[in-house]
Amino acid sequence: MYEHIPENPYLLLTPGPLSTSKGVRAALLRDWCTWDADYNEEIVQHIRRRLVALATAQTEDYTAVLMQGSGSFGVEAAIGTALPRAGGKLLVLANGAYGQRAATMARTLEIPHTVISLPETQAPSAALLEDALAADSAITHVIFVHCETTTGILNPLEELAAAAKAHGKILLVDAMSSFGGIPMDAGAWGIDFLISSSNKCIQGVPGFALVVAKRDVLARCGDNARSHSLDLYDQWKEMDSSGKWRFTSPTHVVRAFYQALDELEQEGGVTARHTRYRENHRLLVEGMAALGYETLLPPALQSPIITSFRYPSPDFDFPAFYQYCKRQGFVLYPGKISQAPTFRVGNIGEVYPEDMRRLLEVVAAYP
Ligand SMILES: *Cc1c(COP(=O)(O)O)cnc(C)c1O
Repeated sequence: MYEHIPENPYLLLTPGPLSTSKGVRAALLRDWCTWDADYNEEIVQHIRRRLVALATAQTEDYTAVLMQGSGSFGVEAAIGTALPRAGGKLLVLANGAYGQRAATMARTLEIPHTVISLPETQAPSAALLEDALAADSAITHVIFVHCETTTGILNPLEELAAAAKAHGKILLVDAMSSFGGIPMDAGAWGIDFLISSSNKCIQGVPGFALVVAKRDVLARCGDNARSHSLDLYDQWKEMDSSGKWRFTSPTHVVRAFYQALDELEQEGGVTARHTRYRENHRLLVEGMAALGYETLLPPALQSPIITSFRYPSPDFDFPAFYQYCKRQGFVLYPGKISQAPTFRVGNIGEVYPEDMRRLLEVVAAYP
């Protein structure tokens, strides 16, 4: 094995791409043919089974489909494949840029839809969803984001899913930045399409999206897709039969993802990873508070994934602060909201409590 894996010059405190382990990066270093069992069976099919097991205890009822591209390609493939050509209507609950992106996709795909836009600091409630569904019986499908990476707000997935199911709707969830880092059960909670990607909490490198889908629901989506390459159904059928992706698969990324799944298991699974992320987050928020940096969100709404901090003063020079932190080995993330000047710090990826402590020392020493 190649021994000179370069050290990273900085930690990415961003929600993806994020800092990966040396093991994951080392797994990128060989080539694979895509037509033999050592790739299709032992890597692709193995990954698909493991993803289903990560997503639900009801493994027989679900399948996993991998899709080339970034996470958004998975969201667009799921929306464009789940909604029937006629007679469907999508309700989008949006409280951030990723929710709004789902609405943009529906609009681009010319799918009938309605958007409930909430402030970025407000989580949609089950009551709000129930009212919206009661008011418009044409709605057949619902989509929302679990962890809205825009702010770091954690939307109440289980309650919202229960409301959608109580009304008999098909549910799509953008769990991009939470799947693998926050425990969830798609089957028990009633999620029909759970969407994530290779480069978030499973801690692989970027290159593909993944959709864990309810088999009997996906099985009814055969003629729906508005795009040939983003046809989740066709991709599923091909993958299910042979482990092959319809078009060139990102082989190195896939092999590295397999390694990332191994490392997730070695860490103790999603529960252990969630515990580490929560500890990272607790240290970060407490330490930053002691240095005069307040969080945008109240603790009850905050995810353990990424945190928005208010500027400590109106004349705070974030670009200077950013460059300073980067020179000291930490890449932060600019804010993405209009309501208040903020910056964001992610704490997922190959990032540990000792890294958070080092970051806090760096921030404390900022001139
Ligand atoms: C990262 C992310 C996405 C996908 O973004 P890409 O840039 O396409 O990978 C979608 N939704 C959420 C909530 C995300 O955090």
